[in-house]
Amino acid sequence: MKPKVLLALPPPADVLARIQRECDAIPSGQRGAFTKPDLLAALSDVDGVLSHTRVPFDAEVFAAAPQLRVVSNFGVGYDNVDVAAATRHGVLVCNTPGVLSDAVADLTLGLIVALARNVVQTERLVREGQWGRGAAMLGLDLKGKQLGIIGFGRIGRAVAKRAEAFGMSTCFADQFSDAPSGYEYCAYRSLEDLLRESDFVSLHVNLTADTAKLIGARTLALMKPTAFLVNTSRGGVVDQVALVDALREGTIAGAALDVLEREPPAEGDAILDAPNVILVPHIGSATKETRRAMLDLAVDNLLVALRGDIPECTVNPEAVARA
Ligand code: NAD
Repeated sequence: MKPKVLLALPPPADVLARIQRECDAIPSGQRGAFTKPDLLAALSDVDGVLSHTRVPFDAEVFAAAPQLRVVSNFGVGYDNVDVAAATRHGVLVCNTPGVLSDAVADLTLGLIVALARNVVQTERLVREGQWGRGAAMLGLDLKGKQLGIIGFGRIGRAVAKRAEAFGMSTCFADQFSDAPSGYEYCAYRSLEDLLRESDFVSLHVNLTADTAKLIGARTLALMKPTAFLVNTSRGGVVDQVALVDALREGTIAGAALDVLEREPPAEGDAILDAPNVILVPHIGSATKETRRAMLDLAVDNLLVALRGDIPECTVNPEAVARA
């Protein structure tokens, strides 16, 4: 009998056909439609899930899924999954690292340029018939400015390479202090020193209990009043209430956010009216080529796990010992 898989995102026909050669696939609605009650109702006889980073897999969900062997996340982040609970239930958790790093880094530099050159504000001025007001919108050179990268993993390093090409100096804060080989131009700083010194601060940590609200009132207060914050990691890394206060009070000069604490934001969310903030709707990995590469890798992971092997991109290979 073929294993049964739940598809929490609707794959294109050729990918669906590939899955169906080895599995009975239960199609889902649109991406994003999966809530915890949906999962509890759907998982009682399912062997695998092609998931994404907004589907909540907690201990209660794993307890309701006795046959489940793999959660294959379409995304590198897996903060939607209680990995310890998955491991206790013998469920492999897989992700899609690497294939999206360039796309996220491209967007990050795009947001840095947009902040430095007032791209969003000046675009609005053109539409409002204020073409000649450009002088009030004089921006900043990136050359010679310092970019502080918090979280120097795959994406953080791809950002450093791009910033270097723009003539920026770069530094990083992470749990290690030696610059990896090939990145010697990027100097280690403590989190506090990085925040005090940098003209732009870009967040690339994974969201964990340690990094939740890493940027809040205390850390924002360390930044220069002329500095900008960019977040293409996870909304939960920033205390959004503190950020809105910092933007209103001019503690920092501005911010660009691809990710929010709540996505989409609630109507009337204070971040929507905060000054000097650029908001984009979690599009870090959203290019045609990258999304396809992520999907192919997520399906590889799903099928390899259902054949009884451990996919290379497994975050808890120790789960097999519990299966
Ligand atoms: P990665 O694991 O390669 O890098 C994360 C880095 O953060 C690691 O070097 C780790 O040591 C560091 N880190 C963890 N905790 C830290 C702490 N307390 N202080 C300092 N550094 C710490 O991951 P990656 O592939 O570079 O992805 C990073 C994150 O980007 C993902 O976890 C995901 O949440 C986010 N992401 C967002 C999008 C998007 O669409 N906006 C797309 C892909 C990834």
